[in-house]
Amino acid sequence: MRYAILSDIHGNLEALEACCAELRADDDVLCLGDVVGYGPNPNECARLLRERDTRCVLGNHDVAAIDNFGVEYFNPIARRAIVWTQGVIDDETRRWLGSLDYEMRVGDFLMVHGSPERYFEYILDDAAAARAFGASDAPLIFIGHSHIAECYVLNAQGRITHQSLTQGGEIVLDPECRYIVNVGSVGQPRDFNPAASFGFYEPELRLVRVLRVPYEIERVQRKIHACSLPEQLAQRLTLGR
Ligand code: ZN
Repeated sequence: MRYAILSDIHGNLEALEACCAELRADDDVLCLGDVVGYGPNPNECARLLRERDTRCVLGNHDVAAIDNFGVEYFNPIARRAIVWTQGVIDDETRRWLGSLDYEMRVGDFLMVHGSPERYFEYILDDAAAARAFGASDAPLIFIGHSHIAECYVLNAQGRITHQSLTQGGEIVLDPECRYIVNVGSVGQPRDFNPAASFGFYEPELRLVRVLRVPYEIERVQRKIHACSLPEQLAQRLTLGR
């Protein structure tokens, strides 16, 4: 049994395809939201996830794309991109996104886009991680949202430690500890590694793995230009930030 956990795809089909090339046919595919927004292929990404029977929770860009929720919190570049996305998403994508929930419990783990405390809260430090652990009883919580691959560990003494996963890496889960794992972003990494990021979880082995997968960034950048999406969205893919 192996779960493949994707997040923050953001309409980047080339990055999604590169990650999917790492999957086995029998992987159970899960997604932590932000399928759309920023990138040039929102419908194609949503379709590819549906073809893989992906179970997915909502991200803030997904909600903004289908009903304009929260757009006032977007910066001007994100707002321009979400207006473009609202104009191009088709009925199938809209219906599928509209059918998704904000959280999902699968076995011993919880999936949310940002945090179990507030779904679109960022977990960027130990204090936010502590609040998130307090808001859920799940021993393992998978998140995205910040586009930074990393892990927070809460041990039996209540102490939180942090592990960076920006170059990928493995975590063997200790039954005495709880974990918040950010699998990073498939389509717009912001942890200074431009390679697409996603995770695997194998419950029998108690093993979480984060992989970094290079993909053809220039191809996506050409599409971003052709769609007249903001230039900064193309540049940041090269920088990984
Ligand atoms: Zn995102």
